[in-house]
Amino acid sequence: MGTENERHWHSQMVHEGLLFPQIYGERTLYSELAQRPGRIREMQRERLTAVLRHAVDAVPAYRRTGITVDGGADPWRVLSAFPLVGKRQLAEGMIDHCDDDIDPAVCRVLETSGTSGVPLRMIRHDDAFVHEWATALVRNERAGLVFDRKVLMPCLARLDHWFEYTSPGMGFSRVAQFGTAGRTAPDRAGFADRARGFRPDVLTGSPRNLMDFMGLLGQHGGRLPSVRSVVSCGELLVPAAREALADFFGLTVTDMYAMKEVGTIAVQCALGSYHIESERLWLEVVDDDGVPVPEGSVGEVVITDLTNLAMPLIRYRTGDFGSLAGAPCACGLPHKVMDLVEGRNPGELRRPDGTAVPVLWAVRAVRRHPVRRYQVVQEADFSVSVLVSPAPAFTAADTTELTRSLADVLGTDVRCRVREVDDGDFHSTGRRKDVDFVSFLPDVADSPGRL
Ligand SMILES: [Zn+2]
Repeated sequence: MGTENERHWHSQMVHEGLLFPQIYGERTLYSELAQRPGRIREMQRERLTAVLRHAVDAVPAYRRTGITVDGGADPWRVLSAFPLVGKRQLAEGMIDHCDDDIDPAVCRVLETSGTSGVPLRMIRHDDAFVHEWATALVRNERAGLVFDRKVLMPCLARLDHWFEYTSPGMGFSRVAQFGTAGRTAPDRAGFADRARGFRPDVLTGSPRNLMDFMGLLGQHGGRLPSVRSVVSCGELLVPAAREALADFFGLTVTDMYAMKEVGTIAVQCALGSYHIESERLWLEVVDDDGVPVPEGSVGEVVITDLTNLAMPLIRYRTGDFGSLAGAPCACGLPHKVMDLVEGRNPGELRRPDGTAVPVLWAVRAVRRHPVRRYQVVQEADFSVSVLVSPAPAFTAADTTELTRSLADVLGTDVRCRVREVDDGDFHSTGRRKDVDFVSFLPDVADSPGRL
């Protein structure tokens, strides 16, 4: 597991290094932009026009719509004529959503981690990465943390070793990732010492990983005095976790809203508002029928990526719920503010003895098999059913192996089974159409429908 991970990161670092001159150039542009608020709107207009025109010219799924994009038209008005696209539609019609003349030399393929029950392969153009990393450099510059930072990313349950690299995309930050999976107590103490010796400026990870790390530090020497910033991402940061982390580290936690398909979406400012990366993304909030709701009203977050021409994401339904603020933030940043209220909570599977395991562990097991769609269901008697809509390559051996991996994850006192179902047999909870996890246990407060 370690070497595969490291190989992946080496190739990632080379990629970032090659793109760095462009990243640096855009960073300069974006730092000037923050001083001229009107310029963001102009940039959005140019980029939105370009992406919509490219979509109807070169992307089969959009060419068929018959929509025309002429230079003089209001691009937001043109955008409203585009259909919303869901994760399942995109997963099944991936090629249809790609640029006809896609050049693999300037693209990366990403697999999204399944928190919606639909595995998705996404192609991002290098430009999309350049703009994402450039906005991150500007953001870090504002926090006084630009180049030469040390970033610690604990992922205690996922890794069993320590590895470091220098990330050009992150302004040549030195990054250390580590985990203590399967390690004994003396090893764990050693990792805590090593984390301390690394003297990180920034600590980042999912709330779960940050909480686990806090637990490790609590047992071995207390908080890290070198840390100047704690950044959470990847899951909804619930108030209790936010408070516990802030108390322990003596710092306000900065939360990021991101997804693999588009990268960072919004980041908290010093006043706690989630500012949208407006240079790169256009956000709408829509109701159940897909109609945009007024500012301040809650609905599903829908994203248009302004920089990825390889596989344009236009009016992409995220499955997350939130609202857009009407008023600007008092911090002075020109970027629009959003509020995230629901979604991104992967949930937990409970065992009869009261212990729990992240549903993501079961999801990872499922994703090793060829399925079109899946859903993890915990029944009222604690048993777990995984519903799958199989892809053509799925065989009886997949069912057997998946059942065995689920038993490994959940232990012997939880009954597991895998059921092949039709699309209509998946459960839907609340307002979310595609959910990967449903719990029928009476006291589960954090199942997706009841957040
Ligand atoms: Zn602000």
